[in-house]
Parts: sequence; structure tokens; C-alpha cells
Amino acid sequence: MSSISEENQQTSVLLVTVHAQGHINPMLRLSKRLASKGLHVTLTTNDLALKNLSSTVAGVHLEYFSDGLPEDHDRLNGDIDAFEKSLGKFGPGNLSHLIRSSGRKFACIINTPFLPWVADVAAEFEVPCGMVWIQACTVYQIYNSFYNRLNEFPTENNLDMCLDLPGLPSLRAEDLPSFVLPSNTMSTFDSILKDVFCNMHKYKWVLGNSFMELEKDVITAVNDAGLPFWPVGPIVPATLFGKEDAIDGDLKGLNKFKSTDEIDCLEWLDKHQPASVLYISFGTLLFLSEKQIESIATGLKVLKRPFLWVVKLPENQETQQFGILEEIKEQGLIVRWSPQTAVLSHPSVGCFVSHCGWNSLIETVTAGVPMVACPQWSDQPTNAKLVTDVWCVGVKLKRNQEGIFDGEEMARCVEEIMAGPRSEEFRKNSAEFKRAAREAVADGGSSDKNIQLFADVLSSCS
Ligand code: UDP
Repeated sequence: MSSISEENQQTSVLLVTVHAQGHINPMLRLSKRLASKGLHVTLTTNDLALKNLSSTVAGVHLEYFSDGLPEDHDRLNGDIDAFEKSLGKFGPGNLSHLIRSSGRKFACIINTPFLPWVADVAAEFEVPCGMVWIQACTVYQIYNSFYNRLNEFPTENNLDMCLDLPGLPSLRAEDLPSFVLPSNTMSTFDSILKDVFCNMHKYKWVLGNSFMELEKDVITAVNDAGLPFWPVGPIVPATLFGKEDAIDGDLKGLNKFKSTDEIDCLEWLDKHQPASVLYISFGTLLFLSEKQIESIATGLKVLKRPFLWVVKLPENQETQQFGILEEIKEQGLIVRWSPQTAVLSHPSVGCFVSHCGWNSLIETVTAGVPMVACPQWSDQPTNAKLVTDVWCVGVKLKRNQEGIFDGEEMARCVEEIMAGPRSEEFRKNSAEFKRAAREAVADGGSSDKNIQLFADVLSSCS
């Protein structure tokens, strides 16, 4: 550990994120990488768990700032509009206070897209601002084009149109993020993204949780258009690279969905043949409807393969209340939470049925596991397009007329991945990305070089 005087000589950066798991995890891991390049790194978030955590994790100083909401406010499932409103009102003052009381001169302040006001706080302190783009560069390219009106996008009268953007395959409405479609009802996300992309001049750097070898064409196109985008990923736990992750133990304090199931999952997987198990998870935000749970269960019964299924239920519901889950429980393991990155790294897992959240997707690519993509909203439809048409590491399951994923159709897709004529191709492509991901973050790899360059630029400016 460095002494106080050494710390004072280090170039300092401040990272700011909201509490959501899909934001805080990559930000903490990126912080650790920046610290490994000799920077003094502070990560601040509104996550209440930080109030009780030690103030330093793997060389990263953790600080709490208040979002202005009462402590007992439900930040996980509560009203997102109320949250953003309070954060926008109280966040700037509380962050400014934190910066002033730190006594540090930061060389850069870095935010995630959910905190666009951080760029204005940084400007007040005359500190350059950077952003961590926590989704695909593909999605960044689409939003930039949409919010800056660079291309025509689908409207109610033109839903069949194809969108052609540099570095990307032709995209149809079903491949686009839900926020750019006329059917979008999430005005909060729309206005946040608009704020970010109409004010890109406020950001000197954009660090992306992707890697060159994964999205080469679009990253090159974005850079050629003069937009900053430095791929520094995959920003995932070291366990996915077969290494111990010092940060993981501490991260558990910030894990909202811990469960005693964790050890069970790995012990259960140990008992199965290589590449024989189907893993199913729809991330941290989506609750599946009763009908959806029943349909998937019916598909699993038809499939007859062992499965590990994360069923996220509201607090007041138990899996036992679903008769069909009781019927199939001998065939697999049903949990409320899984140690996903350890599961994906386990040799028994042969296919992942996923909602295609970007964190899940980049973890899956890093683990080299083929997928069945079941996108729902936000960037997930675009991520699914990458899975099927760009990387060719899986197939997409479309929702049926009732708006749910049909279980028997899911079973057919899983068979296609695990035993169909293209099975070998999916496995080969997945293995190729697994190798490329390792190379990108290894010393001198494409992402490692970008982190080093970023650290060097900051050090030379400060
Ligand atoms: N996750 C996990 N166990 C679970 C479900 C999810 O560890 O049972 C983790 C997963 O590894 C990923 C994150 O939660 O890092 C979910 O982020 P993602 O972007 O995939 O989806 P979101 O939850 O934001 O929709």
C-alpha cells in the first residue's frame, strides 16, 4: 500500500456511478485497472452499502454521495423517474462537496451515462470529463446517430425501413434499442440519452466496455467520424480469465441479490458432463410473468437436458408455488441468484439462454459460451443482432403473439445450439472470441494499451 505522501504525488481520477449492479461492477473493476497503472482512483456512488464498507477496495478509494432520497427508499425496484429527479437535484451539490472536501485536484472525472450532470460539475471545477460507456459501441453509434439526427429512423409509418450506419450491418426496427423506436414509453431514459449525445463535446474521453476485436468495424467507424471511443474491455471479473479476483470478495458487499444458492450452483455443475448444461438467466431487472415461467418450464421438460435456471421472483413469491417447477426440479437446479461469471466459466455449461444485457453478453463472450438470445428492451435487441449476425455465436428466440418466449421454441433453439448442424460453428466462433478477450486485456493487448495510454495522458496533463 502506498504512503500518504506517495498518494499525494499520484495523478488522481474520480469515477462516479449510480448504485445499479450493471453499472457499479464494471466501474469498480475499471477503477482497479486504472489504479494498477499508477493512478490514485476514487470511486463514488449513491449505493448505501458503501456507508458500511471499508473505504479502500483493491487500491480503490470508495466514497458515498447521497442521491437525496430517504435511506429506506426502494432503489432497486422503485420509481426510476423519482430517482433520477432526486439524483439530478441533489447529486451535483453533494458531489461538489465531496470533491472539495477530498482536498485533491482531480486530473479527470469519469461518469456513466446515467449521471449526465457530472460533466457540468467537472466543468465547474475546471476538470476534464470522461465517460464510461457501459454498453456496446454498436449501441453508442446508433444513439449518436439518433439523438444528433444524422439518419432517418423508423417511425409509425415507416417501421419496415432498414437503417444503414457505418460499421454496422443493416438494422431493422426489431434490431434497434427500444428507446429509439416510436413505441418507446420510457421518457426518462430517452431524455438522459439525449442529454448525453447532444452534449458529447463535454467529454474528452469515452472508455468503452468492449474490445477492438469484438466490434472492430463499428469502433473504427466511430473513431473515423471523430468521436472519442477507447475500448478498454472486457471489464469483467478475473475469474472469467481463470484467475483469482481480489475485488470479488469485497464486491459482494455491493451485491444486491446474494443468496445461499451460490455454492450449490457450482457443486451441482461439478456433477455434470462437459458442455451438457443449459444456463438460463434474464438479468437483475426483469421479473418473468407466471405465464412465461410456465412456458419455459414446459420447454425444459421437452428438452430433457440438465439446466441451471435463475428465477427472479418478487419478494412475496416462492418457486414452490409454481407446480410445473416442482415437476422439473429433479432435471435441473432452480435458484434465485447465481454466481454468473463462475457459472459461465464452468466447463459443464454448454449454452446460455440470456436476455442479452450487455454485462451478461460480454461475460458470455469472454467465457466462450454459445447463446440463445431472448432480448426484451433497451439495448438488448441490438445485442441479440450482434450475437446472431455479427459474431455468429448463437440464435435468437423471438417473442410469440402473446408477447412471451415460447418454451418449446426455446427448446428447439437450445437443441440447435447444442446438437444442431451449426453447433460446431457456434462453439468455434465462441472459442475464438474467448481467446481474443484474453489477449485484449493481457499486458500489451488492445484494451490494456488503451488503459495505459489513458493513464499516461492524464499523468502528463496533471
Ligand atoms: N448476475 C449474476 N447472477 C444472476 C443474474 C445476474 O451474477 O443470477 C450478474 C451478471 O453476471 C451481470 C449482471 O448481474 O454482471 C447483470 O447485468 P446485465 O447487463 O446482463 O443485465 P441487467 O441486469 O442490467 O438487465
